[in-house]
Amino acid sequence: DDELVVAVDRIMAHADARRRMKVRANVDTGEDAGLARRFGAEGIGLCRTEHMFLGERRSLVEDLVLAETPEEREKALAALLPMQIEDFTALYRAMAGLPVTIRLLDPPLHEFLPDLTELSVEVAVARERGELTDEQEALLENVRRLHEQNPMLGLRGVRLGIQVPGLFAMQIRAITRAAATLAAEGVNVLPEIMVPLVGTVQELQAVAAEIAEVVQEPESLVDGAPVEHQVGTMIELPRAALVAAQIAEVAQFFSFGTNDLTQTTWGFSRDDVESSFFSAYLDHGIFGVSPFESLDTVGVGELVEIASWRGREVRPGLKLGICGEHGGDPDSVHFFHRAGLDYVSCSPFRVPVARLEAGRAAVEHG
Ligand code: PEP
Ligand code: MG
Repeated sequence: DDELVVAVDRIMAHADARRRMKVRANVDTGEDAGLARRFGAEGIGLCRTEHMFLGERRSLVEDLVLAETPEEREKALAALLPMQIEDFTALYRAMAGLPVTIRLLDPPLHEFLPDLTELSVEVAVARERGELTDEQEALLENVRRLHEQNPMLGLRGVRLGIQVPGLFAMQIRAITRAAATLAAEGVNVLPEIMVPLVGTVQELQAVAAEIAEVVQEPESLVDGAPVEHQVGTMIELPRAALVAAQIAEVAQFFSFGTNDLTQTTWGFSRDDVESSFFSAYLDHGIFGVSPFESLDTVGVGELVEIASWRGREVRPGLKLGICGEHGGDPDSVHFFHRAGLDYVSCSPFRVPVARLEAGRAAVEHG
């Protein structure tokens, strides 16, 4: 057993010495960040903050989104801020000295709201019994207003951040305050604030303006200056890839969201893949493997390359990474190396595979 461990360590050391790309992990808790670090992760490439709002906190998001007055909204935001500060502090501590990319909220909204059908039935029953309250009726109205036929193409990511006043500011505040507090303690923190589902530079500009304001708040300062941080964006819509030159004027980094980019480029749902027409496509040899597992290098990959070229033409030092599931897929890792990306980010358990493949890619392709 010891011999095996030594042999694996030597192989990994070879790969690490040769690879050009860094390997980060997709994690949302301090605990998983520690695990990722033990697997050799060199930072967090994606913290999905929506995962921090499951369980008991779910109702706070519901309150926030359904709030009808600024007071109601402020109350929900005030409750969430200290929780988020605690969340990010744990991530920074676990990843001290390494970059931590925190993505602003990108929830599938339908998972945070009451189910419209269930609620409609409840209201109908209550009305029948003459027990319907104004509150119940207002809630149904509200949920109906937010109901979408295609939630994955709807009020997600930056769109929600722009629609709900104060939501992104609360998260930005937590990101920079937690960082400033730790930096003052001498912990080396490198937060990267990432905006999801951007399709036009105007969206990113709107959020960048909020960031610029929040980092000037006293609690976000270190020695009188804004805490060190970067601002970047996901590239996960074909339009974002095509207008990358404009987006790079504002973004210091791009992180390719190849899950959504695959979904939106092909025009089929990532959530229905298994149950839908995929097996027929595999049987007919139209797909050798699902494009959600292994990157479609000529289609989706071309968009990755276009965005990389156009972005770097405007901003030569633009940092490029990928945080979709493909970050841990061997063939895809080779593609990302050839495309000139700086890092791949994947689930902690795939980090060793990604390190190995990034090393092999460097040897094979130079
Ligand atoms: C992606 O779209 O590839 C991505 C990393 O974001 P998410 O999977 O959370 O949509
Ligand atoms: Mg996405």
